[in-house]
Amino acid sequence: MARKIGQSTEFVVPGERLGVIEEFVPGYDTHEENGVIYSGITGLARIDTVNKTVSIQRKVKKPLIPEEGSTVTSAVISVHDKVAQVSIIEINRRQVGTPFSGILHISSSSPRYERTMKEVCKTGDIVRAKVASTRNGILQLTTIGRELGVVRAYCSQCGHLLILRNRLLQCPSCERVEPRKLAEDYGRDIA
Ligand SMILES: [Zn+2]
Repeated sequence: MARKIGQSTEFVVPGERLGVIEEFVPGYDTHEENGVIYSGITGLARIDTVNKTVSIQRKVKKPLIPEEGSTVTSAVISVHDKVAQVSIIEINRRQVGTPFSGILHISSSSPRYERTMKEVCKTGDIVRAKVASTRNGILQLTTIGRELGVVRAYCSQCGHLLILRNRLLQCPSCERVEPRKLAEDYGRDIA
C-alpha cells in the first residue's frame, strides 16, 4: 500500500514505500525501482522539501551503559588489599564496545568478610557482578549474592584455568589450591 509521508519524520522499515521520483530525489539509504522510492534500512524518513529529497536517518541504538542494578561481566585488572579494579566487558550479557572501569571493594565482595581482596579474586579472573552505585561517575560493583562472584579463575602459579574439585578450587596442572569468592555456577559455562 502506498503511504504518503508528511513533512515531519516518520519511522520506516526496509522496503517501505516512501514516494515516487516525480515527487522526490532518492537520498541516503533509499533505493528506487520503477519510479518508486523505497527505504533501504530501518530508521526515520526525512523529507527535504527545499531540495525535494527523501532520505533515511539510521535509528541510533541506545548506548550500552552500566546502570545501577545492571549485571556486568568484568575482567580483573589489579587487586589491592581492600579493592580490585576491573574492566567491564559485558552489560546484561551484551558485549560493550569500549570497556568501562569499575571498582570492587572488599566490603561489597562477600558476606563472609574476607580479610584481603586476594581471597576474593585475582588479576586475570573473570567476575560476574552487579552495579551497586554509579555515584560521582564511579562504577562501584558488588559480588554479594550466590549468582555473583568469580566465574573463571586462573592459577596464580602457572596460569591454568582452575577447576572446582570437592568444593576446592584447584589447578589441574600444578595442583595448587586457591581461594576465591565464586559464583554458584562456577565452571558450568566452560565447555
Ligand atoms: Zn597451576
